[in-house]
Amino acid sequence: MERESLEMDVVFVGAGPANLSGALHLARMVKQYNDAIAKGEREGKALGEIQIAVIEKGSSVGAHILSGAVMDPKGLAELIPDFVEQGAPLESPVKEDHFLYLTRKRAIRSPVNPPPLANHGYYIVSLNRLTAWLGEKCEEAGVNIFPEFPGAEMLYHANDRVVGVRTGDKGIDKERKRKPNFEPGIDLLAKITVLGEGVRGSLTKKLIRRLGLDEGREPQVYSLGVKELWELPDDRYPAGRVTHTLGFPSDQWTYGGGWIYGMQNRVLNLGYVTGLDYRDPLIDPHAEALLANDWSSAKLQSYEERVTDSWITAELRRYRNFHAGFRHGRWLGIVNAGLQYITGGRAWGVIDRDHQESGHEAIRKLSSYGYNGDDAAQRYKDLRFDNQLIFNKVTDVYHAAVAHDEDQPAHLHVLDTNVCATRCVEEYGNPCQKFCPAAVYEMVEVGLETGAQASSLHAVSEPPAAAGGPLRRQLQINFSNCVHCKTCDIMDPYQIINWVTPEGGGGPDYKGM
Ligand SMILES: Cc1cc2nc3c(=O)[nH]c(=O)nc-3n(C[C@H](O)[C@H](O)[C@H](O)COP(=O)(O)OP(=O)(O)OC[C@H]3O[C@@H](n4cnc5c(N)ncnc54)[C@H](O)[C@@H]3O)c2cc1C
Ligand code: SF4
Repeated sequence: MERESLEMDVVFVGAGPANLSGALHLARMVKQYNDAIAKGEREGKALGEIQIAVIEKGSSVGAHILSGAVMDPKGLAELIPDFVEQGAPLESPVKEDHFLYLTRKRAIRSPVNPPPLANHGYYIVSLNRLTAWLGEKCEEAGVNIFPEFPGAEMLYHANDRVVGVRTGDKGIDKERKRKPNFEPGIDLLAKITVLGEGVRGSLTKKLIRRLGLDEGREPQVYSLGVKELWELPDDRYPAGRVTHTLGFPSDQWTYGGGWIYGMQNRVLNLGYVTGLDYRDPLIDPHAEALLANDWSSAKLQSYEERVTDSWITAELRRYRNFHAGFRHGRWLGIVNAGLQYITGGRAWGVIDRDHQESGHEAIRKLSSYGYNGDDAAQRYKDLRFDNQLIFNKVTDVYHAAVAHDEDQPAHLHVLDTNVCATRCVEEYGNPCQKFCPAAVYEMVEVGLETGAQASSLHAVSEPPAAAGGPLRRQLQINFSNCVHCKTCDIMDPYQIINWVTPEGGGGPDYKGM
């Protein structure tokens, strides 16, 4: 197939706050350098016009960004010192900090706020709006932004050198045939390709494996956050108030906690984070609420050194063992967090680096919890969806305005659906049905002889009817609900789910998140 190729200098994959900041900073550095040469303040040759591109899989910049968010403005202030005067969309400075320990019936207010949760000097923001604003700043500085362009494949030259990225084809139907609107993806060739796909990036995952970038490193750990925005009838929860919670509903072996932030116009921002290294297979997190003509790796090494020498690494080092400490249960995790705070991040006050476990290795089998089958009521006895205060996943997906063209191959590749219908039913009770916050995975019962096999690449849109006789379970993938959180790719115990980018523009369309 003939593909158009476009030569850029630097291509950033993903229009999140990290990449947009990088692209904006780069565009400004190039301008400053060229201006200094033109004014004779600096010797050398002007760089001319450097082509910087940012590609984004969402329908617009910010559409796929969901965050808390309380923001430490340190990074933004380095990038745009007068960000307030320039109209950065900030909800409120943090005015009050509270920390609550929750039991099933009570909220116990902590007299002191744990230092990692002290937020004075920070801002409550909608990261989704802030990202859209950063996108505008990038465009003003001459950066080319291409929404609806998912990076589908890395392009390599000899010696595994990355030479750009191929964007996804458009207009392919679910049988993998071309539709009348078919457009092949473009090869964006670049001297430098920056991956800023956020957590568990689909290209990043493959690149890490290919180049062995995780050798000798601790496994990455992740968390899943579920967030809602509520409009209050009055000012009962003022803008600028920040509350963090620990305890209920998570058990002491599950890392997680909640937040409640007061935004402008009586909007309450609340959410709950579950660490994706939980053990109980019935857990349902939704329910738990560029500048020189040398692009060699040796030259780019200085990027890593500069990050290592900056405040970024110093700040992250202090918290390097925070999440790992909670592997030993909530109470030891809290003790560990205190010792880490005193000793600059050492686990138990002495160990430089505590070990982590990947989420898919941490999850235990149904039998180790004494569960009989996978009925979620065994863990969530009292949970009722009343559509007043408590909403089910499908309703939440509707509010997230999630949409994908249904006539395309499913972007969730399950490599062996027999494992789902046999081993996983027995061993883990198909936890994909629980951990997916968007009800994408469903095990449907079909007649043993009549049921068509669910294909790994095609979503089954209707559950096949069971026509009497013995039944078996079959995986049905409602891919159009997917909110792109990648939890399934992270937590599937058999590691047979591969999340790839769908056609550009598909996914959530978050507003104010
Ligand atoms: C629920 C929740 C609460 C949080 N609360 C806070 C908080 O209070 N304070 C705080 O500081 N941080 C918080 N965070 C973390 C913060 O949101 C992230 O650290 C931050 O968003 C990371 O920015 P990023 O640019 O690296 O990636 P992201 O923000 O994830 O952006 C990545 C972008 O790349 C796009 N993309 C991905 N893959 C591709 C591809 N292959 N091709 C094209 N585009 C692609 C995505 O659509 C997305 O737009 C929270 C996160 C969550 C989920
Ligand atoms: S990436 Fe999509 S399918 Fe996977 S868990 Fe998240 S919402 Fe569900």
